[in-house]
Amino acid sequence: MEPTETKKKTPRSTGEFVPELAYFEPEALNYPKGERIFQWIKDKGIPYRMTTSHNRITNLPGETEVEQYKIAKRTLVVGVRKTLKFDTSKPSAEYAIPVATGCMGHCHYCYLQTTLGAKPYVRVYVNTDDILKQAKQYIEERKPEITRFEAACTSDPVGLEHISGSLKEYIEFMGQEEFGRLRFVTKYHHVEPLLDAKHNGHTRFRFSVNAAYVIKNFEPATSRFEERIEAAGKVAKAGYPLGFIVAPIIWHDGWEEGYTELFEKLASTLPEEATRDLTFELIQHRFTKTAKTVIEKRYPKSKLEMDEAKRQYKWGRWGQGKYVYPKDQAEALREFITERIFEKFPQAKLEYFT
Ligand code: SF4
Repeated sequence: MEPTETKKKTPRSTGEFVPELAYFEPEALNYPKGERIFQWIKDKGIPYRMTTSHNRITNLPGETEVEQYKIAKRTLVVGVRKTLKFDTSKPSAEYAIPVATGCMGHCHYCYLQTTLGAKPYVRVYVNTDDILKQAKQYIEERKPEITRFEAACTSDPVGLEHISGSLKEYIEFMGQEEFGRLRFVTKYHHVEPLLDAKHNGHTRFRFSVNAAYVIKNFEPATSRFEERIEAAGKVAKAGYPLGFIVAPIIWHDGWEEGYTELFEKLASTLPEEATRDLTFELIQHRFTKTAKTVIEKRYPKSKLEMDEAKRQYKWGRWGQGKYVYPKDQAEALREFITERIFEKFPQAKLEYFT
């Protein structure tokens, strides 16, 4: 028998999200965006159904709850956004601007596990004019204060841009607004449609990055680290202010080496433009009791540590509290990571650690 040659394979690029099933609210088809997405779905030969409301999809296929969850993550729902009151979005912005709700990623720790409950499918909204009109009102109310809008509170909109095109509209809208700013974060590298947007420096484009251990074990169905960094370089070259969110920061064996390596890789790969106006946001891992139950059911083999005994309980403002790292551990993470950041990026701005 011939000995088998073991070749090192080049990892494949993470493909754009293509849903396996789609639902449309009939009203959505009255909007050009709804019509365009409908055509795209038909051209791709993706099965579709009609639904009375994007909030009530009850007939998803799948035998078990976990199966239904996996299918829901590959299901696109196209609807009209009725609630136009924006949520607040502290600490990164004043308001959460709706673009989409739900995400095709499978990050074990994602807080959408609990906030979306039984509705983990991916909803996109076609009435972006109404949403932007509302944003304008919020800007007017606060001016001359700057109003910041976070577009990634309930989804990863960059990963859906090839379907909806909404982010580019928001970016160009904010580009025209003296007192309005947009920001969002992504784990996807599909930034091409946004590179020529007229952003006027009013949108901060952030990438979520982490130690290799975290990306490898807890972030399936998202772009690889190298792809995200390459995309960050392109975004910086397109003149966008750039940022990185290190979240969730996870205490694991070898975390010091893991996070050191992260900033070394960032520093050696990013082009010079990227470091001119660079921000970092740091968020330690946290979980609620409800999240723990859901995660254990959906990702039963996950290595995500969620042992209440090893954590500190932090009371929540709206009822359910969260488990964070005890003070000394959180402080060690904050200090160590902050030092590594300023070692490599002395001009960067650290926005917060929470
Ligand atoms: Fe959640 Fe972001 Fe992962 Fe999507 S990419 S599953 S929004 S953490």
